[in-house]
Amino acid sequence: MNTATPSQAHPARPTRATKRVLLASPRGWCAGVDRAVAAVEKALELYGPPIYVRHEIVHNKYVVQTLERKGAIFVEKTQEVPEGSIVVFSAHGVAPAVHAEAAERKLATIDATCPLVTKIHREAIRFANEDYDILLIGHEGHEEVIGTSGEAPDHITLVDGPADAANAKVRDESKVVWLSQTTLSVDETTETVDALKTSFPNLLSPPSDDICYATQNRQIAVKKLAEDAQLVIVVGSRNSSNSQRMVEAALGAGADSAYLVDFADEIDEAWLQGVTTVGLTSGASVPDVLVDNVLKWLAERGYTDVEAVKTADESITFSLPKELRRNLRSQPVDDP
Ligand code: SF4
Repeated sequence: MNTATPSQAHPARPTRATKRVLLASPRGWCAGVDRAVAAVEKALELYGPPIYVRHEIVHNKYVVQTLERKGAIFVEKTQEVPEGSIVVFSAHGVAPAVHAEAAERKLATIDATCPLVTKIHREAIRFANEDYDILLIGHEGHEEVIGTSGEAPDHITLVDGPADAANAKVRDESKVVWLSQTTLSVDETTETVDALKTSFPNLLSPPSDDICYATQNRQIAVKKLAEDAQLVIVVGSRNSSNSQRMVEAALGAGADSAYLVDFADEIDEAWLQGVTTVGLTSGASVPDVLVDNVLKWLAERGYTDVEAVKTADESITFSLPKELRRNLRSQPVDDP
C-alpha cells in the first residue's frame, strides 16, 4: 500500500556508506488529537463502556482499534447511537445540525472538536453574520469541511484546490473571504489563494492561519528530511489528510520516493533498494509506538544509525472538553 509517485533524484545528495534513519521532530500526535483521545479514554473511565463516538475520533486505524478494545463504539451517524447514550464528537468537528440531532435523541454529548477547528467555525459564523461570501478551501467530503460548512451553508462555497478556484461564484465580489481546512498543504493552499485572488482582487484573508501549527510544522520537518533522504516513510492512515499531505510535501521537496504506511509490516523491502538514508516521520494522529515499530523494522535491516532532525519545538496543550472538566470537578475527592 502506498501513495508514492517517483520523482527525480536529489541532485545535491551525497552518497553514504552507512545506512541511517533521519527521524523528524516534531512528528506524530498533536495537541488536538491528544485531547480527543484523552476525552474518549476519560469518558470510558468515568461512565464505563459503551461510549459512542461519532466518526473516527481521529483518522488513525491503530487509535480507533485500541479504543474499540476499551469499549468505544464508532458510528458514522448520530441516529446509530441508542437514545439516552453518551456520544463523543470527533476532533474534526460537527455541524450545528448534528448537535440538534443529538439533542432530539436525548444524547449526552462530549465535544472533542479540536479548538483550532472550533476557531474556524467561529470565523465562519462571524463572516456569515457580516454577510460575506466565504470560500472554504478544503477537500470535498472531509469531515472537518462538512462540519465547518454546516455553520453557514448559505454563505460557504467549497474550493477544492487551485484547479477549482476558477469555478467559485459569489454574490458580491467586494465582500469575499477565504477560510481553510486545518490540515491542507501549505504550498497548495497558497496556490489556491493566488488563483482566487485573480478572480476576486478584494478577497479578504482570515485573521490568522487556518492551517494549524501541527500541520505546518510536520510539513516543514518532512521537507527537511527530504533534502537528504532518498526514501521517506510517513506513518499515518490513508484517510488522514495531514499524513497524505506530508507524503506530497516529501516528494515535492526532492525525496526519490515517499510512502504512507499504517504499520511497519506494510513496508515493502523493495523500497530500500539502493537507499542509504531513510527519512521517517508520522502524521498528527499517530502515536509514537507505531514509529518505534518502524525504527525496529529498519534496524533489523541494517538502518541502526538514527539521527533526529529537529525543525521546531512544540509545547501546545489543550484541556479536556468542558463536559468532562465539569464532571471531573464534581467527582468526590478520595481520602488521603
Ligand atoms: Fe487540531 Fe491541527 Fe491536530 Fe487537527 S491536526 S487536531 S487541527 S492541532
